[in-house]
Amino acid sequence: MKHDETRRLLDEYDVTNILGRGGFSVVRKGTKKSSSEKIHVAIKTLRRVGTSNSNNPSRTPRTKVGGVGGEKISTAVSIMGFPSWRQVSVSDALLTNEILVMRKIVENVSPHPNVIDLYDVYEDSNGVHLVLELCSGGELFDRIVAQDRYTETEAAAVVRQIAAGLEAIHRVNIIHRDLKPENCLFLDSRKESPLKIMDFGLSSVEEFTDPVVGLFGSIDYVSPEALSQGKITTKSDMWSLGVILYILLSGHPPFIAQNNRQKQQMIMTGEFSFFEKTWKGITKAAKQLISSLLSVDPSRRPSAQELLSHPWVRGDIAKDDQMDPEIVSRLQSFNARRKLRAAAIANVFSATMFLRTKKLKSLIGSYDLKEDEIENLRIHFKKICANGDNATLSEFVE
Ligand code: ATP
Repeated sequence: MKHDETRRLLDEYDVTNILGRGGFSVVRKGTKKSSSEKIHVAIKTLRRVGTSNSNNPSRTPRTKVGGVGGEKISTAVSIMGFPSWRQVSVSDALLTNEILVMRKIVENVSPHPNVIDLYDVYEDSNGVHLVLELCSGGELFDRIVAQDRYTETEAAAVVRQIAAGLEAIHRVNIIHRDLKPENCLFLDSRKESPLKIMDFGLSSVEEFTDPVVGLFGSIDYVSPEALSQGKITTKSDMWSLGVILYILLSGHPPFIAQNNRQKQQMIMTGEFSFFEKTWKGITKAAKQLISSLLSVDPSRRPSAQELLSHPWVRGDIAKDDQMDPEIVSRLQSFNARRKLRAAAIANVFSATMFLRTKKLKSLIGSYDLKEDEIENLRIHFKKICANGDNATLSEFVE
């Protein structure tokens, strides 16, 4: 195992513009300094929050886990090098979990056209930096709504790619657990660009089942068993894929309710329907496939491998006609609302955790968040603050 404590991110990469923000991270573009050809990467910085030992840099490894530009360095993040789950704060656990899962991906899955690759890991006082394969082709729904032409065949190609990525991670017992359209990015802007599954922050590997429980933000993609705190398996990801497919073909999620409690109830009983007006033009096999993916009983859902041989997913029987423009325009507004909420969540978290200002009230006010969404933020903020920080969200929003 190679521990090189002197390696510094900024010595090896030029770090430039922000590509995106998550609840716990900032992702920036980076360019490798030492290579003659310009190798671009995405650098995801996970910042530690509210821990009593957060100044102790020895708590996470400074270890090279992969190689950028084809160079493959032996994977070296040692599980033994991590503190026991019980000794770390939620934030450290989240951070460590993502590295562990990515390490397993590097060892067993990479390179895979539909799974993000990790090249390197650095650590400094700002947190841990994951050097990732750069996906510059945009988020799944952004691209679909920007296209002139959108057909079932294209929706099938999306499902095929996500299923191929899931099949690869499921084969090595990784469960993504947070599969949603914003975690699916196109590698580049080419029409035939591969779609990559990313953000393994909440994923689990067989050795560490359920290390971090984090239901954060929307429950739209969450399986019944996750909501009822039952056993999460690879089939839980298949449920999420079923929800994505439903949205791809209708422009709206399958479970729509006035509040989260009702929505949760609908998910747990699998209460959804195919409204005739929206679904009349969609191939019957696609609807049957959605029904099987959205089975409350996980054993009735097809596996990723089974999905890959399904005739609709293979594109054999998917329609190649332009989809009803109403579906596309519904998808457009669904996507716009989703992005606004994601921005709210990212901003709320950066404001509370990193700036500690009273700006939060106006920040939350500036997004059209429902009461449930504010309640979600409150719960999650409390969870995050549970270690070493007594602040509560109400201090900021009330
Ligand atoms: P979340 O709160 O959704 O769990 P997170 O903190 O785990 O988020 P990510 O979802 O991994 O963070 O990344 C945040 C954003 O950064 C993404 O929505 C995406 O826009 C951008 N991003 C992440 N990884 C990459 C990448 N490899 N290439 C390009 N952009 C990326």
